[in-house]
Amino acid sequence: MEALVLERKGELSIREIDLPNKVGPHDVKIAIHTVGICGSDVHYYEYGKIGPFVVKEPMVLGHEAAGTVVEVGSQVKHLKPGDRVCMEPGIPDPNSRASRLGIYNLDPAVRFWATPPVHGCLAPYVVHPAAYTFKLPDNVSFAEGAMVEPLAVGMHAAVKAKIKPGDLAVVMGAGPIGVVTALSALAGGCSQVVLTDVQQPKLDLAAKLGPIRPVNVARENLRQVVDDLTEGWGADLVFEATGAPAAIQKVHEPLAPGGRIVLVGMPIKPVELDIVSLQAKEASIETVFRYAHVYPRALALMGSGKINLKPLISRTFEFRESVDAFNFALKMPPDCVKAQIHVGAEA
Ligand code: ZN
Repeated sequence: MEALVLERKGELSIREIDLPNKVGPHDVKIAIHTVGICGSDVHYYEYGKIGPFVVKEPMVLGHEAAGTVVEVGSQVKHLKPGDRVCMEPGIPDPNSRASRLGIYNLDPAVRFWATPPVHGCLAPYVVHPAAYTFKLPDNVSFAEGAMVEPLAVGMHAAVKAKIKPGDLAVVMGAGPIGVVTALSALAGGCSQVVLTDVQQPKLDLAAKLGPIRPVNVARENLRQVVDDLTEGWGADLVFEATGAPAAIQKVHEPLAPGGRIVLVGMPIKPVELDIVSLQAKEASIETVFRYAHVYPRALALMGSGKINLKPLISRTFEFRESVDAFNFALKMPPDCVKAQIHVGAEA
């Protein structure tokens, strides 16, 4: 079938490629409708690798997908042809020690879409385990369904933060992951989120989505804003979602004594941290790697209307424009959060 293939660093093509097509007893076959372009897809396109994951052979990109079930395996009970669904892109070995412990996102053998050497989902069809395929609520569109994957990262961060009702959180970075982390923190009980970035249009957009106080750190002092909101005490929680070393090194600054930090953004290189400043506040540090067990709750929040991701979808390209879409995402304008590709035939 015809898919969007990253041939090598800097070279994309839409072409025929052999992809797995056999529907096993516990699998479903899905006609892909919408795929979101993720920072990681763009990074593979630009650099040909992320950390230890190197593109050595042509690879289909894309891992944020929604579509329609067209075929189900003989043992599949909870899905049927015609169901609108989204998929978790990581498939662990169900018998691995990590999976048995419930931390299947950390299974060393996990096969994650568009992470070399595993093909992604920018193709007309995928075959996927039914256990990692989730029905969309009727009021959640395919485009929103393709946003569940990034939302899941923010949801997992909110779980790791052990939010107490009324907590004040700082989220550093108003990119897609920063914004979904802010929305997850609010859904998880935070009273307010102070969201930072240097791109004003992103902050303006996010500020409309809930009790979010935008702070343009190029012009405003974050600690001062947090002091004003907390009588000088500091933020209960700080989520770092930029991955930028300069931001990560300041992660302790807005934090309250005894507060918790969740590192969400992934820096490209090792980063030095001021350990004593962290110790002086007895900061707890949590990290996240993708997510586990959050898709059903993410979909429930979208279905109930508590989380609305529609305003984050800035541009939609047709499948045949996929290369343009990636070149657009490479130089994403500051007022755009998420670009998506419409793959399927139906509207
Ligand atoms: Zn993603």
